[in-house]
Amino acid sequence: MTSFSSRPFHHPQPDSALCCGKTSLEALAHRYGTPLYVYSADQIIERLQLFQQSFKSRDHLICYAVKANSALAILKLLAYRGAGFDIVSGGELQRVQTAASEAMGHVVFSGVGKTSAEIDLALTAGILQFNVESVAELELLAVRAKKLKRKARFALRVNPDVFAETHPYISTGLREHKFGIDIRLAAAIYRSAANNRWLVANGVSVHIGSQIRAAAPFGAAIVRVKKLVEDLGRDGIALRVIDAGGGLGIDYHSDAAKTSAPGPDEKVQEYAAAIEQALRGFEGRLLLEPGRFIVAQAGALVARVLQVKRNGKKTFVITDAAMNDLIRPALYQAHHEIVPVRPRAGRMQTFDVVGPVCETGDFFARDRKLKPLEPGDLVALLDAGAYGMAQSSNYNTRMRPAEVLVEGSRARLIRRRETMADLLAPELF
Ligand SMILES: *Cc1c(COP(=O)(O)O)cnc(C)c1O
Repeated sequence: MTSFSSRPFHHPQPDSALCCGKTSLEALAHRYGTPLYVYSADQIIERLQLFQQSFKSRDHLICYAVKANSALAILKLLAYRGAGFDIVSGGELQRVQTAASEAMGHVVFSGVGKTSAEIDLALTAGILQFNVESVAELELLAVRAKKLKRKARFALRVNPDVFAETHPYISTGLREHKFGIDIRLAAAIYRSAANNRWLVANGVSVHIGSQIRAAAPFGAAIVRVKKLVEDLGRDGIALRVIDAGGGLGIDYHSDAAKTSAPGPDEKVQEYAAAIEQALRGFEGRLLLEPGRFIVAQAGALVARVLQVKRNGKKTFVITDAAMNDLIRPALYQAHHEIVPVRPRAGRMQTFDVVGPVCETGDFFARDRKLKPLEPGDLVALLDAGAYGMAQSSNYNTRMRPAEVLVEGSRARLIRRRETMADLLAPELF
């Protein structure tokens, strides 16, 4: 029986080190140093297959959102299992080209500010579809397509004006957001584009935000999109593709206590049911752009405790990982479970877990109850596989972590730790 646990990290015995599958994080930290990102390839594949299975009754393509984690090894892993990709820059396009050039025909290009150079790159590579976010962008796309003598398949990214409960920084589906085209204006734009021989209206796309835990908003958005497709069909404009975007959220809080909480398989099925119900009657192809749901829970950031410092009433655990390695707590007040790799005996204590960066915002957790920690101990920040390394920086001239991919019983380095030479290479003085 397949078990759909939400995380691949576990203690095989209460007193043994935290493992990813069968690989000890203690051994990995010893070998590759800390801070260290560790990912489970098995879980990434399992999550991709959850989506593929849940939509198997229709023609579909899962276009993994590269921005969630753009490690070449992960892109390659996903491409090999039939994933396409959702990219938001020319840089991401070149990553996909490097990791899986055979997947170029399965790439959709999203984003509100594409440059001519990026559009040219994508036209030349022969991507599946441009998700266009404004009339000006569509005009630019037509100019570049004509110049390169390559037809551009496009979808308008419409803004369905659907509210989805999530952090305001990652909500995108309301009229007040910078994203997409007001769905009420879309039909007229498709009609006028029909006169341009370099533009091919391939589909329509929608993406209402990220870390959305409920299925209903996705369904509500697709209902509106499907109506647009039907209206256009009556006008003789047949859109073959609906791109439902990404955004399905995960549970960042520990689920150990509530065994009745729905597992990832149930979450995807519920999501698929909401989308399928909204699509009823649409015979075309469905694209999906999940990012976080595929990689977030597969990854942990392993850090070593440098110091335990008491200041007044607070006890600070200072780790060698910092906000430059994982910015989600600082940026979105995000919660990450923190697990001692080898838990010590003793009563729970209340800690602020912080990094060494010179910012008060450099924290991973405040007033968190954890087993006792001492300098030299290892901790794992869970659910760090998405928007972790991808949003890392060199702030404070800190070298970014190494990354390890665990596949079955094998662990391999997929990105070495940065060196000072890497950091200084582009500078002139
Ligand atoms: C960020 C993004 C995604 C992926 O979002 P997740 O929440 O990681 O699933 C998909 N599509 C577009 C257009 C995006 O901007």
